[in-house]
Amino acid sequence: MLETPEQSAAGRFDTVLIANRGEIAVRIQHACRELGLKTVAICSEADREAPYGSTADRFLCIGPSSAAKSYLNQDAILLAARLAGAGAIHPGYGFLSENAAFADAAEKAGLTFIGPTSSSIATMGDKISAKRAMMAAGVPCVPGPDTALPDDPDTIERIALEIGYPVIIKAAGGGGGRGMRVVPKADVLHEAIALTREEARKAFGSPSLYMEKFLEHPRHIEIQVICDDHGNAVWLGHRDCSMQRRHQKVVEEAPAAGIVPDIIQPVGMACVQACLQIGYRGVGTFEFLYEDGAFYFIEMNTRLQVEHPVTEMTSGVDIVQAQIKAAQGHVLDLNQGDVTCEGHSFECRINAEDPNSFLPSAGVVTHLALPTGPGIRVDTHIHAGYKVSPYYDSLIAKLIVHAPTRAEAMARMREALAGTEVEGISTNIPFLRALFEDGAFAQGETDIHYLEQWLKLRRAA
Ligand code: ADP
Repeated sequence: MLETPEQSAAGRFDTVLIANRGEIAVRIQHACRELGLKTVAICSEADREAPYGSTADRFLCIGPSSAAKSYLNQDAILLAARLAGAGAIHPGYGFLSENAAFADAAEKAGLTFIGPTSSSIATMGDKISAKRAMMAAGVPCVPGPDTALPDDPDTIERIALEIGYPVIIKAAGGGGGRGMRVVPKADVLHEAIALTREEARKAFGSPSLYMEKFLEHPRHIEIQVICDDHGNAVWLGHRDCSMQRRHQKVVEEAPAAGIVPDIIQPVGMACVQACLQIGYRGVGTFEFLYEDGAFYFIEMNTRLQVEHPVTEMTSGVDIVQAQIKAAQGHVLDLNQGDVTCEGHSFECRINAEDPNSFLPSAGVVTHLALPTGPGIRVDTHIHAGYKVSPYYDSLIAKLIVHAPTRAEAMARMREALAGTEVEGISTNIPFLRALFEDGAFAQGETDIHYLEQWLKLRRAA
């Protein structure tokens, strides 16, 4: 598709402030430079020595180590953007990436927010309004009302009975695997609601809850979309993120094993339709639970995701560059027919944590060896001598592999993990190595509870 001069001039900027840290700050910086854009890196006091500081065009310290006073400090970030002459802000993932008020404030300050509009973020950020929008667009959802739970105990009991136990109570504003509680039977319903409501009020600033069917053995399957501002949208295939601990993804893969095109095609197209219907711009992910051959939407992430590389490896699309180009107002340069996903990709999240207790491990990396070879990619910000701070998420690197088949990709990941050495701090590498030796995982199609059960068995052994 050709673009008019007006279209190509829209959202023009030549300097991007990267409002994030760690591996994603590095990833975004690469994408910007390849597009000929200048970059502004920011840091908290704890991250002053971050390696991406010296490779950015500007590097500004915006506040103390506490994330609340730095990476979440909207005024400080906007001020840094103004001081450095940035025309756009890339929020990465986490921090302010799904904060509608921040997207709005950035736009009001004359900056391009590299993401969807603040109203799209607000609609999808509230899981109830997201579910309503998806139902309206014909996307299959988990059984349960698309409205907040009322206060009346009798009505609540009736809703639970209509859905059928077990049900799950979820906070409308929940995220990061928090604000959810499974209710196996009626006698603990009200207690579960009271506890979740209190948690939601404290953690997300809103007591709004909703209820849906608790699926007992689903897989977590998600669809990556990319949209421009001109009514074009495509989906870039699917990922399986069922390997979770405490609702947090540990290993991701693309495509999801055993999902045939006939089943996924209509779901992918429904996601594209939903994007067009809500006027979505940029990259996004539709998350589904998949059980007994059916898909159920659970939420949409209106940002770049940690696991985007597995889709980049299979689709060949640079998702970060595509996201930036969409924010620049460019017309999407691929049609659905151009999207062909090839081979199989895995991503392991390497975390600075104890491989048994999973407690975070801060300290200096005294020795680092990273794997190299065909089909191996490492996204990281660490180096020998790097000090892992206790203030932030424990993700220190992502190990990504790509090979023609799933079995070959698993073998490649085993080899890549064997070639990864991090000393001075504890990491989950021993645990990942053991997981990639597991027979059921090698078979594929394990559900979202598999990893927790596997860990329990390992502990007992
Ligand atoms: P968050 O925004 O906190 O990540 P999600 O709604 O995406 O929350 O759910 C996170 C995880 O919780 C899912 O991947 C799945 O493991 C589990 N989960 C969520 N909803 C259900 C459900 N209805 N039935 C079973 N498991 C669920």
